[in-house]
Amino acid sequence: AVVAAVAVSLVACSSTKSGGAGSTDAAATDCNVGIAMPTRSLERWINDGEQLQKKLTDAGCKVDLQYADNKTDQQISQIQNQLAGGAKILVIAAIDGSTLGPVLDEAKKQNAKVIAYDRLINGSENVDYYATFDNYKVGQLQGKFLEDKLGLASGKGPYNLEPFAGSPDDNNAKFFFSGAWDVLKPYIDKGQLVVPSGKAPASDDAWASIGIQGWASDKAQAEMDNRLSSFYGGGKKVDAVLSPNDSLAIGIEASLKSAGYTAGAGYPIITGQDADKANVKAILDGLQAMTVWKDTRTLGDRVFTMIQQITKGETVEVNDEKTYNNGVKVVPAYLLTPEVVTKDDVQTKLIDSGFIKASDVGL
Ligand code: BGC
Repeated sequence: AVVAAVAVSLVACSSTKSGGAGSTDAAATDCNVGIAMPTRSLERWINDGEQLQKKLTDAGCKVDLQYADNKTDQQISQIQNQLAGGAKILVIAAIDGSTLGPVLDEAKKQNAKVIAYDRLINGSENVDYYATFDNYKVGQLQGKFLEDKLGLASGKGPYNLEPFAGSPDDNNAKFFFSGAWDVLKPYIDKGQLVVPSGKAPASDDAWASIGIQGWASDKAQAEMDNRLSSFYGGGKKVDAVLSPNDSLAIGIEASLKSAGYTAGAGYPIITGQDADKANVKAILDGLQAMTVWKDTRTLGDRVFTMIQQITKGETVEVNDEKTYNNGVKVVPAYLLTPEVVTKDDVQTKLIDSGFIKASDVGL
């Protein structure tokens, strides 16, 4: 693994207060962490925040965890409050990755380290590390899943595809889209995939034209309603939907349901991401084909390790120093590996690992 040097003189956020050299209760307050999460409206962020908070608190750190209701201004003032409370490390899952520059300048002034959590923060020098799942790979898994299930590589088609993309203000959304589009676009060019709505970006860069603001389920549903009523007259059917995540998939599935689609033969292949409970249930019910699972516990563990390395003044381990250019610098990143979950591995991957409970999904 590649490592990036850090030079901070904070004392270890030690897991035992009995402490090794230099670890005293007074110094332990230096492990003062502000966690800024985007919203409670999505299960994953609730889990992300609470898990990390618990690990840090158990290790003797001071932690302030905030959720910002998907409102950028609210997130900025929460971070300001965390800095006013003496935060030395900020862990931020940005709502709008391009609006945090000024507040991060304040962070820099008080020597706080900044870890971008899951989503990159753009346009600022003051982003020290980035921990995330490989976002391009998430999209690639979705694209390859559709390629595989539709038999595109062996020349099958034409199939009707409806592509969606994530929130235009979320830096991840373009990676998800390009990962998928790099697989699917060649089949559009060959005529094996057809997009009846015409909402097929001409290139990866044009993804935001089909982005759903705020990753909102109701907006995805309304968009799918429009596509179905305007472009699917006369018995034409949707064969596949590229949905970048589960919150969009839920809206798309609701729209298909009201248009009369039912599980079984002829139901479209729909992708997702996050393994939200409602979507895992949909997978079991045959209403969604897959989800890209990001075991957020491993992301929390990685960020916990980064925080320990920072507070001990050790080098912070990263494994990617080329991909995530935020417009000002390439942010050293630690990328984790996402994986596909279908009906066949809900039990083995999600339930057996304790990520969700069988009773959460009606089993
Ligand atoms: C995250 C996804 C999530 C989406 C909506 C993205 O930045 O990586 O896991 O589904 O935001 O919250």
